[in-house]
Amino acid sequence: MKYKSTRGGVTGSSFEDALFAGYAPDGGLYVPEVLPEIPKDLLASWKTSPPKYQQVVLEIVKLFVSEDEVPKNVLENCVTQAYKEFDTSKVIEIHDCKDTSGTDYKVVELFHGKTKSFKDYAMSLVGRLLQYFVGKRSSHATILVGTSGDTGSAAIEAVKGLKGLDIIVLYPKGKISEVQELQMITVTDDNVHVFATEGTSDDLDVPIKKCFPSPGLISINSINWARIMIQIAHYVYLSTLEQLQPIDIYVPTGAAGNLSAGLLASLMGIPVNLYSATNLNDTVEMLINKGKVAFGGEVIESYSNAMDIRHPYNCERVLYFLSDSKTVAGIMKNDDESESMIPADLHEKLKKYIKGALKVDTPTTLETIRECWKLNKYMICPHTATAVAFCIKTNKEKVDGINKLKSYVIATASPEKFPDAAKAAELSSIDCNYNLANGLLQELKSRERKEPKLMKKGENWFEILQAEIKLVSAPK
Ligand SMILES: *Cc1c(COP(=O)(O)O)cnc(C)c1O
Repeated sequence: MKYKSTRGGVTGSSFEDALFAGYAPDGGLYVPEVLPEIPKDLLASWKTSPPKYQQVVLEIVKLFVSEDEVPKNVLENCVTQAYKEFDTSKVIEIHDCKDTSGTDYKVVELFHGKTKSFKDYAMSLVGRLLQYFVGKRSSHATILVGTSGDTGSAAIEAVKGLKGLDIIVLYPKGKISEVQELQMITVTDDNVHVFATEGTSDDLDVPIKKCFPSPGLISINSINWARIMIQIAHYVYLSTLEQLQPIDIYVPTGAAGNLSAGLLASLMGIPVNLYSATNLNDTVEMLINKGKVAFGGEVIESYSNAMDIRHPYNCERVLYFLSDSKTVAGIMKNDDESESMIPADLHEKLKKYIKGALKVDTPTTLETIRECWKLNKYMICPHTATAVAFCIKTNKEKVDGINKLKSYVIATASPEKFPDAAKAAELSSIDCNYNLANGLLQELKSRERKEPKLMKKGENWFEILQAEIKLVSAPK
């Protein structure tokens, strides 16, 4: 399998090139040159006996990474290792819930990895793959990653202590939860370098983007193709739970990495209907509902901080897979500054694959957390709540009997990471019996810390980063 850029300026790249890059040299994102098909006999066997999650990951990755690049036994070993330390052998757990009208929905708990967000699912395998290639090349590489909350800790856990790799993480000081912050600053390995920046997560993306492309510098934000590729697996897996019959899936959306993976599963023939929920940062919602491109603007802070994103870069992949490089290059030319509309035929296609989008405000998010607890004695995180709100709204609007598809809601993080949201939803540990002063926070607080370095407003963050990159990549 070869890779190209969404904007058409690069072709014939290897998987390794795509994995070790951030943006493509033309400013686009790496995508496979063709979309592979899932073998029919494999689907037939999955229909009769549902596979384990790890098996699905392995089969999906095999379609996108040729054996010359990663031998079969190496890949199998990477997959086994990646999910070994998850806290459930199933890797993904499903929790049944109902809404006030008694309609069922299933919550897909993608938070059983080390840092308890769905980022662990792709990141843990990306870490193993990077390690394999770095070992093979016997060279050093530096990972540079900005985080709006969960990516940083998942990336740190995936690569801490690995030889030949250093990781530099930037997070927006004061704009992530205490658990999220502690998960990053309590890792003391020498190859982990954390910066706290004054500003939003979109602000810190600017100097990061300026650092690319650069040899030996890797991004593992979801601009990295490998993460999207691995995430295709959870959509395929969910479909196998229903014998590959059509299902509705609600996705909490930030940078649209998860959503683009769902779209790819759909384009590869897996019958999943996608619904995208955003918080007040509604760039993706506007793109889907109105065909409007408005990347940029002020980030609005919310409880679902991992979705506080105004520049959802994976929209570029979404648009590419539904059109072509020329169209995407045209749309992206205006980047950031001005608003524009995508071509009408592309908008039609987008709405065909992504069935709906909803912007969910803060009161609705909190009300959903409260209602879910009251009805199900089940706590959800504020990101998950946006998608649950969308699911409940859609179920209400469905005319009886017309749409009987099962609803799955992706739970992108554990509620344990966001006790503030539960508190704001007026659920105290007394009335909800959910331990808000939970073990996770206490345990993290008791760990040794490595204080982050600060990046202040007015300083030249790009220069600071350049200096740090130079420092960590110097021979040790
Ligand atoms: C990253 C993240 C999201 C957003 O996912 P995207 O792939 O960026 O759309 C949503 N919820 C949580 C908890 C996250 O960590």
